[in-house]
Amino acid sequence: CRLLSACEEPVFLEDHVLELRAAIGLSVYPNGGEQSEQLLGNAHIALSEARQQRTGGLRVYHPSMRKTLNHTMALDSDFRKALRSDGLAVHYQPKIDILTGEVTGMEALVRWPHPTRGMLMPGDFVPAAERTGMIIPMGYWILQKTCQDLAFLQTLGFEDLLCSVNLSFRQFHDRRLSETVFRIIYNTEVDTSSFEFELTESSMMFDTEYTRRCLTELTHLGIRFALDDFGTGYSSFSTLRDLPISTVKIDKSFMDNVVDSSEDAALVSGMIDLSHQLGLTVVAEGVENEAQLEFLRKHHCDQGQGYYFAKPLPLDAFCDFLIKRRDASGVADYGVA
Ligand code: C2E
Ligand code: MG
Ligand code: MG
Repeated sequence: CRLLSACEEPVFLEDHVLELRAAIGLSVYPNGGEQSEQLLGNAHIALSEARQQRTGGLRVYHPSMRKTLNHTMALDSDFRKALRSDGLAVHYQPKIDILTGEVTGMEALVRWPHPTRGMLMPGDFVPAAERTGMIIPMGYWILQKTCQDLAFLQTLGFEDLLCSVNLSFRQFHDRRLSETVFRIIYNTEVDTSSFEFELTESSMMFDTEYTRRCLTELTHLGIRFALDDFGTGYSSFSTLRDLPISTVKIDKSFMDNVVDSSEDAALVSGMIDLSHQLGLTVVAEGVENEAQLEFLRKHHCDQGQGYYFAKPLPLDAFCDFLIKRRDASGVADYGVA
């Protein structure tokens, strides 16, 4: 539609090109409502659907949208309640040293055990939390919980684990990010050097200057940063050059066919070499079998994470995993949990 194309013309601002996206919601008499208020209300419903598509676009109101809206609103409200009443959970997936088989740390992954809908995965509620802004308190809740769990693991003698926590782009909308993060970690008396934040490139696009400042401040406090889903963004290499990143995580999509596709094999080995030349640690995501592990070993990848070692586990199962591996240490066994 002409209006949309006109709105989406790039805007040139000094040295920058701004890509604009427009969203339009439309309701048409009589199906979209018989009175003006009804038509306007339904156009808003269509608009909120159009906004949810990252690419914007035009949506025409249909009665099924009201159902979706009710569902979304109910889920948003349940989510607020869950967050207030500690109703979320954090699972941990180990990261393994490819050479020694030792557990180097873990990634904290949020879960929502919903009272009626079952165990919800991040894909079911993180996008909504980003949209409503609830991702900000959720992020702090996860960090707090992770700090407590890490402190507990340290009492069991697991003192050298590096715990990775995902940070979404929306969390950088909070102008007190660095000081709040520091306060939470400081209050649980866990060392800041036990933490790493995982960021995707899109999380750094919102306000690059502010992001850079936050990253620098947090780095000075001892926190490290990993670039998540490496290889899937637009400018991975300049991100590595310009920001204080110490680890890259090669995206699972490259690992899926690394054994069968010579292109993917070349990409992965290239990413490992390049990252090493920049002095970065490399973690491969989505390791699911021995052949992939063998490939990583051959190409000197530092660490692996994936179902082959263990799925994300609740704290007690993660403890059992750690204890089992500690008891078996010395034996070159990569063991599947
Ligand atoms: P991610 O940070 O790239 O996390 C890795 C995802 O891959 C996790 O999915 C993990 O369960 C899955 N995974 C790990 N190994 C394997 C494997 O061998 N095979 C397969 N098929 N999958 C594997 P999950 O937990 O569903 O999380 C999805 C995404 O949601 C994460 O991607 C991250 O971007 C986001 N997310 C998860 N937890 C949080 C959180 O606490 N905060 C924020 N802001 N985002 C989170
Ligand atoms: Mg991650
Ligand atoms: Mg990832």
